[in-house]
Amino acid sequence: MVELFIGGEWTAAADGGVREIRCPADGTLVATVDEAGPKDASAAVAAARDAFDRGPWPGTPAAERGALLLRVSALLERDKDALARAESLDTGKRLVESVYDMEDIARCFRYFGSLVATGGHGRVVDTGDPGVDSRVVHEPVGVCALITPWNYPLLQTAWKVAPALGAGNTFVLKPSELTPHTAVMLMRLLAEAGLPAGAANLVLGAGATAGAPLTEDPRVDMVSFTGGLVTGRRIMAAAAPTVKKVALELGGKNPNIVFADAAFDAAVDYALTAVFLHAGQVCSAGARLLVQEELHDAFVTELVRQAGAIPLGGPFDDDARAGPLISAAHREKVEAYVAAGLAEGAVLRCGGERPDDPALRDGFYYLPTVLDECTPGMSVVTDESFGPVLTVERFRDEDEAVALANDTVYGLAGAVWTSDAARGHRVASRVRAGTVWINDFHPYVPQAEWGGMKQSGFGRELGPTGLAEYQEAKHIWRNLSPSPQRWFA
Ligand code: NDP
Repeated sequence: MVELFIGGEWTAAADGGVREIRCPADGTLVATVDEAGPKDASAAVAAARDAFDRGPWPGTPAAERGALLLRVSALLERDKDALARAESLDTGKRLVESVYDMEDIARCFRYFGSLVATGGHGRVVDTGDPGVDSRVVHEPVGVCALITPWNYPLLQTAWKVAPALGAGNTFVLKPSELTPHTAVMLMRLLAEAGLPAGAANLVLGAGATAGAPLTEDPRVDMVSFTGGLVTGRRIMAAAAPTVKKVALELGGKNPNIVFADAAFDAAVDYALTAVFLHAGQVCSAGARLLVQEELHDAFVTELVRQAGAIPLGGPFDDDARAGPLISAAHREKVEAYVAAGLAEGAVLRCGGERPDDPALRDGFYYLPTVLDECTPGMSVVTDESFGPVLTVERFRDEDEAVALANDTVYGLAGAVWTSDAARGHRVASRVRAGTVWINDFHPYVPQAEWGGMKQSGFGRELGPTGLAEYQEAKHIWRNLSPSPQRWFA
């Protein structure tokens, strides 16, 4: 049985709740895990609060906190095969992709470890008064509730845990109820690396019963959430009465803009990975293809030819290039989304159904789907499907491309393909998104900030700003030679 981790102890759920975790690729039982409720969430917050108010971690010198993150990075490298396997069983993701994720996760801990270890001792402020020593220091925010989704379970967790611990916070982590295993393994590695008991706590369970209590609890100082827009709004509202700091990484409806002068083969190839990687269950997926009018027919024909040949299969099938969706419910949502698009006039170029291969019958597979002749305002163009569905729109010139790209409530990521460098930079600066790629799609590095504009959220992960999210700035003013002011004399 997989248990909760509270105050440094592995513990069963107070109400005895359990959940079966099944692999989305074939429905096999992966494990039975404890399912936390509000009592467990409260106990985890109490442990994190105590560890912050009375424990050694917040006062541990930055160099030692950084060194611990570097040890965790090494342990992640050591265990990357086992971690990748667990991630693939929970998510159905191809093993090779999970291995990449684990390498990225180790890099993330390494980056924050170095950043924290080499951090300065605050900023000296020049007040112009030699009788004053004024400096700004950065302190941890306090107890953080970290709530993460199922698509990149440990990656999203690492983006929060590494900077939160690096800054000296304590935390309660609530991963998606569907994908708990790598979070459990991370808790073991943190303990092995020497993190004091109570600094890291884990509750497994559903959002409503294990997550919501964390967002309402007055003992929690900050909520960092990655997930859907609707849940993000709920979390902001739940955090408001106690005025918690909130960071939200929400969804995206990301434009991939292809001009007629783009490198054709590369643009087609990347347009496929932009949207079909991990069955489209990627917040930054390039789900909206905007193609310049004169390139449209040739581009879509080749794209559809290649999309129709993508082999589907489970995590350990070496021939597969894309896996299943996370759950039956999610596949039904994607199916309803495609049906709505077709009803609104989109033209189906490929996919649009489940595969008929009997070997895939027990998994939640859905064929890579291209919907052509889409126009602004269609629900498939405005709503996130979080599945393997690409919509195609045409544009005539640069202004129209930018207008279509920005015609969304989201602003997470986007790309522009052109051989005109000046145009690439012009368009990149006009697209309202937290990340814009020029002649590329998907790369990120832990040194560079990641996050959304508009309703894709606020706050940044990764980079120096990703660490600053978990810090409070404090101004300390020291009068070097106090003497009476006699203001009231
Ligand atoms: P959800 O918003 O449904 O869930 C995310 C997490 O929040 C889960 O752990 C969930 O628990 C929990 N949760 C749900 N309701 C509450 C609540 N009321 N209070 C506290 N916690 C709650 O998202 P999904 O898991 O379905 O993930 C997909 C979404 O995440 C997509 O919209 C995607 O765009 C977005 N996303 C954004 C990323 C980014 O970097 N911007 C990265 C990855 C995903 P549970 O589900 O276990 O019940």
